[in-house]
Amino acid sequence: MGNKIQKKDTIGPELLGSILDTVSEGFVRCREGAVIWASARAAEIFREDSAEKLIGRELNSLFVPVDPTSALEPSDRHIRFSDGEERILRIAPVGDNGDEELYLVENLTQQRFLENEVQRANRELHHANRERVSLRNRVQCETEERDELLTVISHELRTPITVITGYNRLLLAEKVGTLNEEQQRFCNQSIKSCQRLNNFIANLLEASRESDGEMVLEVTETSVVPTLEGVASFLRPLIEEHGLSLTFDIDPASAAARFDPVRIEQVITNLLSNAIKYSHDGGMIELGTRNIEDGGRSYVEICVADDGPGIAEEDRERIFDPYVRLGDSGHVGGLGLGLALCKRIVSAHSGTIGVDERPGGGSRFFFRLPDASDLPKEPEPTELKPGELESTS
Ligand code: ADP
Repeated sequence: MGNKIQKKDTIGPELLGSILDTVSEGFVRCREGAVIWASARAAEIFREDSAEKLIGRELNSLFVPVDPTSALEPSDRHIRFSDGEERILRIAPVGDNGDEELYLVENLTQQRFLENEVQRANRELHHANRERVSLRNRVQCETEERDELLTVISHELRTPITVITGYNRLLLAEKVGTLNEEQQRFCNQSIKSCQRLNNFIANLLEASRESDGEMVLEVTETSVVPTLEGVASFLRPLIEEHGLSLTFDIDPASAAARFDPVRIEQVITNLLSNAIKYSHDGGMIELGTRNIEDGGRSYVEICVADDGPGIAEEDRERIFDPYVRLGDSGHVGGLGLGLALCKRIVSAHSGTIGVDERPGGGSRFFFRLPDASDLPKEPEPTELKPGELESTS
């Protein structure tokens, strides 16, 4: 019984007024359009310092609509005060007893601003998404076109290569007459170049493939120096044609590395061909090897440096991505796949590849192959003594 709430007969205007003063929305009572009572919050919303200042004024005279035709909710008003400040208010009738009307007044400026921001951000997101999808489609189309182009090119190249190889073999078989030693050497060189070209085409196709399928390596443990010298002698005619000088800086104590000679030959061929392609005639190229330590591991580093235009710092990572060619390379033939292929091959060897600036100008491409002595060896089979088998099981 003591818990029962005492019921009052009526809620008087004063009690109602003090209740309405406690809520965050404002309230205004009007008779024939003029304010007869306002809550303190309503005065704040209409930027008056007390509710009394609103009494007797026409509700509609308290503000100036900015644009009555603007697309707001029916009860929302975009208004401007005499000092120019603008607000969005909700002035909604919530009660009418025939004589008087009660209005709820809310300041929605911040809320509407946030809603507009969210809408704008949504529109931008939608737009960005559409851009992304169209870009992805474009990239996909371009990739497909390039793959098709590569397939056609490789086919068009392989056919004459097979024919040249065939004729060389025919000559070497002396089916059409005997060859002297020099002629035989020329034919053999010609066949070798055809093989390299065939290999190169196959590798280019592989590098251009989207899939990162694992590369199969035929690894041996040996010095990289003969491979480096072999590529240099193979490309020497080209070096001479461009009047370039070639110097070697080979550490005589170059350690043996574990690598697939055919693949690494491809890497060196690409780097050296680039040094020739992108250098100015009469420039210089350096080939070098050294042993280095990095992160507690030993590597053999092979470098190809030139005094050509060099690579700007911001491009030094991206040039190893497929199809990336720098702005000033248009005059030199290429597809932008050579370095991507190098990266793939070196990564398959657990090595790293990069480029920095050559002291004195130009670029210095380098790649690192794990030093053979640094790699974990196969565990030696241990000989079991009689009786040991039982104790280990
Ligand atoms: P490609 O030579 O077919 O364009 P690469 O992948 O071998 O493709 O090289 C990518 C780009 O890197 C080249 O287009 C060129 O802009 C730049 N580049 C490569 N090597 C050098 C170099 N030695 N000097 C200057 N720029 C180079």
